Amino acid sequence: MEPLTQFLARLPKIELHVHLESTMPGELLDRFARRQGRRLPRSPGELYCCSAEDLSDFLAFLDRICSYVGTAEELALVAEQFALSCSREGILYAEAILNPTHWPQFPPAQIIAALTEGFDRGQATGGAPCAFTLSLSRTQTETEALQLVETMAACRTHRLAGLSIDGNEALTGPTGRRFRAAFQRAGQLGFGRTVHAGESSGPEGVREALDLLEADRLDHGVRAAEDPALVERLVREQVPLNICLSSNLALLYRDPSQHPLRRLLDAGAAVTLNRDDPTFLGSLTLTEELRRAAEFAAMTREELVGCQETAARAAFCSAETRARLLKTLADFHRTM
Ligand SMILES: [Zn+2]
Repeated sequence: MEPLTQFLARLPKIELHVHLESTMPGELLDRFARRQGRRLPRSPGELYCCSAEDLSDFLAFLDRICSYVGTAEELALVAEQFALSCSREGILYAEAILNPTHWPQFPPAQIIAALTEGFDRGQATGGAPCAFTLSLSRTQTETEALQLVETMAACRTHRLAGLSIDGNEALTGPTGRRFRAAFQRAGQLGFGRTVHAGESSGPEGVREALDLLEADRLDHGVRAAEDPALVERLVREQVPLNICLSSNLALLYRDPSQHPLRRLLDAGAAVTLNRDDPTFLGSLTLTEELRRAAEFAAMTREELVGCQETAARAAFCSAETRARLLKTLADFHRTM
């Protein structure tokens, strides 16, 4: 049988849960920082070898690295480089998440234009087709959330796929009611809706995401496994769970055997496999993430392809793109 690494390199891959803020190579940021007359806190190669202090204030570190991107052209370059890095490892389609609160130097309208330009340019030069969602922070107000959705409507482009929300629910407590109107409005406008839940929150956060925010997909969702009735519902409704094993093992589960990936697969949940924060996880590739998942949960090759099919069905893309992704996967399946 073909070795697993070779199989995974060849497998057409789809990624739905990756933060663009965590895809910027140190070398690129070093170039940008120098243009502003600034220096990185460490050498570019060690930028993401974070100290405990950096990690204890992860969001502040994120704000800092985003601040090195000084112009809309540089932001476009970040998007372009991401699209090119995806195609280099056989990613067929990707949706990145960007949270505008980490980018106070750019109004959201400018962010949308820059990412669209960057993804267009990337695809034109051989990069993977990419789209993006804009993410709210759990600390924002209802008015700010509604404002973002209205800007998304006014500045909509073919690359802007939907609305997302992230942030530490362990710190903010439940916020579903505050963001309900924004998510409802995004749905009316035809945007996809994806919600970080069931990571810093438990099953109650997942229920809020489904009932109050009407999430089409969940980013993480793994802690739903603490509640069998909720798992039953996720399986029945086939809510896609964008799971990030390496990220969860680094941040969430002290005891790896507690990670529910195998249990969720066995239950028949709609699972996709993703990187979350690649630069912070040792420049993690999606191919390596899939290898780890395969090893960790003893996944079969059928299951690995199945997760890509689930991602194709869960993507916030056009019907044409979805049909193309599923056809490529079906063609690949015949070569197995
Ligand atoms: Zn995430």
